[in-house]
Amino acid sequence: MPGGMEHCARRAASRDEAVSDRLRVAIIGSGPAGFYAAEALLKRTDIVVNVDMFDRLPTPYGLVRGGVAPDHQKIKTVIRVFESTAARPTFRFLGNVRLGSDLQVEDLRRHYHQIVYATGNEADRRLGIPGDGIAGCTPATVFVGWYNGHPDYRQAKIDLSAQRVAVIGNGNVAIDAARILLRTPAELEKTDVAAHALEALRESRVREVFILGRRGPGQASFTPSELKELGKMEAVDPVITPEELEDGMGSETAGDAERHRNLEIFRSFAARPQRADAKKLHLRFLVSPTEVIAGPDGNVFSLAIERNRLEARPDGSVAARGTGKTEVLEVGMVLPAIGFAARPIPKVPYDEKALVIANEDGRVVDPATRAVIANEYVVGWARTGPQGLIGEHKRASAHVVEHMTADGAGLAARELPERDQIISLLHERGVRPVSFSDWKRLDEVEVARGAQRGAPRDKIVDVEAMLAILAQH
Ligand SMILES: Cc1cc2nc3c(=O)[nH]c(=O)nc-3n(C[C@H](O)[C@H](O)[C@H](O)COP(=O)(O)OP(=O)(O)OC[C@H]3O[C@@H](n4cnc5c(N)ncnc54)[C@H](O)[C@@H]3O)c2cc1C
Repeated sequence: MPGGMEHCARRAASRDEAVSDRLRVAIIGSGPAGFYAAEALLKRTDIVVNVDMFDRLPTPYGLVRGGVAPDHQKIKTVIRVFESTAARPTFRFLGNVRLGSDLQVEDLRRHYHQIVYATGNEADRRLGIPGDGIAGCTPATVFVGWYNGHPDYRQAKIDLSAQRVAVIGNGNVAIDAARILLRTPAELEKTDVAAHALEALRESRVREVFILGRRGPGQASFTPSELKELGKMEAVDPVITPEELEDGMGSETAGDAERHRNLEIFRSFAARPQRADAKKLHLRFLVSPTEVIAGPDGNVFSLAIERNRLEARPDGSVAARGTGKTEVLEVGMVLPAIGFAARPIPKVPYDEKALVIANEDGRVVDPATRAVIANEYVVGWARTGPQGLIGEHKRASAHVVEHMTADGAGLAARELPERDQIISLLHERGVRPVSFSDWKRLDEVEVARGAQRGAPRDKIVDVEAMLAILAQH
């Protein structure tokens, strides 16, 4: 063979080798955990990794788009990091594809060498008390999804005609919900709050919100920066009675730095003079709801609560115990914000106790035998439950990718169908996957719409409307 041809043949052979040496990974879920896993996979230098990232929505970014409060725009700038991951040539986004209906786990096993579940915690924990779920008792997930324009909740019935609202829970989600209820329309219209929510919030009659914690101020899981922000709102005074504050102090959990900082903030709130015309945000501690009481119209009329005392457990943690002393809080709306759970996906192993995808340190396992299911992994809230802020997923997802690297030697040699066959399969099933460039077109439309009200974007909240826009272009 002449030298030039030999050289070409060698080059083609080595390219083919390189091609067959590519690892193909499916990531299900495009929230922070999924994107950080993609970043770590695409940065691998030992092998070329092709990543296909699926999401059930046509829009990427999970809770960064559908959870983070609209008045926290700065946090959403993390999207720029995800955009640079999405720009890599070995990355593809396939939105509008739901695992469990449009695609099954068997399809993924056939088309990919490894699978990463990054499906978050889309279910919520229920109060489990009489009256839970009556009209006006709405999980915070629904309220948050509604004001953030999540397509699942765009038609939620959120009635803001009551003057007093109880938010149950002592985490940041409770604070977000309370803040959005009490912000002025002027504060909200320059944010990406959904247009339908902005309209309803303009007409809102809510003047007082009670955030209720079953344990004391020393155990509240608010982050200090979120808590502090409550003291800086335009037309709102945080209210905390010095007695209730002192009652719940003096417990071990108050030892860590964040909680210590929270206690200082609570004290500063308790010492503040109240403005007569301000809306009120009451922070109440050591109370548990016992019944959501309906009025004659079937809507929330009040909330029965029981006072608690703190009790040290042998492991050093602090539990709340009911004292039998009760009180009725007159509120017309109740928003439980008491935690989340992973939503089970057909054929994906589920841990019924921990309410997450069954796993050992990110490796998916059979929930009964705890045997590892080869080549399947889980990251983010679907792995751990609702713990951790966006930035924390970077290290956590990279840790799981280390397992994938360690387990995956030789995997790339397994022959797979052509890369585009997954798209043909979806088309055969009548599913229209939305690519990242499709999303960027939707993004442009949203940004242009938002500019009309001086907001960063005005979200399209209906999947059909998104697909119709894409069909036009
Ligand atoms: C109300 C709220 C406010 C928050 N505010 C902040 C904040 O201000 N700052 C901060 O740092 N952190 C905040 N967090 C925490 C942060 O949002 C989470 O840590 C993070 O989003 C979890 O990432 P994840 O990728 O595990 O899940 P998610 O972000 O929930 O992403 C999961 C993705 O999976 C997709 N999906 C689910 N099921 C399927 C399926 N069957 N098929 C295909 N796709 C599927 C979903 O559509 C979603 O896009 C907030 C959380 C909440 C709930």
